[in-house]
Amino acid sequence: MSDTLIRGATILTMNRRREILVEADILVSGDRIAELGRVAVDAVPPGTEIVDGRGLIVMPGLVNSHVHTSQQLGRGIADDVDLLTWLRERIWPFESQLTPEDQYVSTSAIGVEMIKSGVTTFSEAGGQHVDAMGHAVSDLGLRATLCQSSMDNGEGLPEGWILPTDAVLERQIEQNERWHGAADGRIRHWFGLRTIFNCSDDLILRTKAEADRRNTSVQIHVSEIPEENRFARETRGASTVEHLARLGVLAPNLLSVHCVWLSPREIELFGENDAPVVHCPSANMRVLGFAPIPELLASGVAVGIGTDSPPCCNRSDIFDEIYLAALIHKGKRVDPTIMPAESVLDMVTVHGAKCLGWENEIGSLETGKKADLIMIDPREIGTLPIHDLVSTLVYATHSRSVVSSMCDGRWLMRDRKVLTVDEEVILSQVQERADAIRERAGIRLQSRFPVIRPA
Ligand SMILES: [Zn+2]
Repeated sequence: MSDTLIRGATILTMNRRREILVEADILVSGDRIAELGRVAVDAVPPGTEIVDGRGLIVMPGLVNSHVHTSQQLGRGIADDVDLLTWLRERIWPFESQLTPEDQYVSTSAIGVEMIKSGVTTFSEAGGQHVDAMGHAVSDLGLRATLCQSSMDNGEGLPEGWILPTDAVLERQIEQNERWHGAADGRIRHWFGLRTIFNCSDDLILRTKAEADRRNTSVQIHVSEIPEENRFARETRGASTVEHLARLGVLAPNLLSVHCVWLSPREIELFGENDAPVVHCPSANMRVLGFAPIPELLASGVAVGIGTDSPPCCNRSDIFDEIYLAALIHKGKRVDPTIMPAESVLDMVTVHGAKCLGWENEIGSLETGKKADLIMIDPREIGTLPIHDLVSTLVYATHSRSVVSSMCDGRWLMRDRKVLTVDEEVILSQVQERADAIRERAGIRLQSRFPVIRPA
């Protein structure tokens, strides 16, 4: 891995003071940032690649804090249907038909989409084939947390998804030993809990204890629909978040995803326990509702942003989610000040890093931190002019403007060409595999318009 010097760029550091350096340099040595600011020519080691950064914006690689990589080939199979149809008739049957080879292609395809939209780190939401995900992430060069979708009870789920509590844990412990710290430390293995509907208290408690013992984190979908709180009250005597707090598992290493239907007390509980939350704006708009993100941020909670599931967001493009996160809360409350652009940038950088427990290494550009960065060329008709850089990045930057990307000191993409994997080879497999999985799952979609093949 050769050293790299980017010269003369505008650098959005996202450091503690949120400094923006203009006409500045960044020297990458190995996998880390060696120097930032003005780098003297005689400080540059021989053999260093010099990159002209003039006119470009360099910022931390973005963190996508919740992604179902196993659902990429199911994009478009569940549009405009209610939640139960979405889950039981489309997503579960589809996902349960994935082979490990399908999973490798699915993770590779969404990985390329993420690289091209500026993501260098993501958190997997949990699928069935963690080994295949791990191999794909190793090849993609991305940084990621991986986990198995885990549950020990529930109704209507595909065969094999629900295992006895001991087996759920044993499988993940094995995976943890294989994947935690793999790919030069770019992969961390997490423990998964699907939802409170599917996880017993015994599983929740033992999962958290095992994650603590192994110095890793746990991910769970929380408070997605009002029915969930009703279910939790009936079966546990409290809402999901109150119950998790009472069990003692609400903590910095429990990442709660969605958190739409929260009471004011539950918002406080996240703050009091320093427990992070992920906001998935497009998934929320499709079926869940408006999460109280401004209130969570005001309580000091680290809130990341996730693209969630491709059959939900349809675009695994973090810039689309950034745009939505900045707008939807304003519209809901008719208050243009409720979600400023700088808060949204925090969410996809420093907050995302904190959600993943990786804040000491990534999320900002600072000397000694990992060299995870992206270069944005704002010189395009849909973006210029720039009057206010932070605002431009949130409201007027498109993922197509991300020209280059580096993770762990290694280029993943230069001038829009992905370097780590062959995008054409992956693309050539997507439609065929997706059709075959849909066929095996017995999912038939009616054309919305008459389809005519002229004679
Ligand atoms: Zn999810």
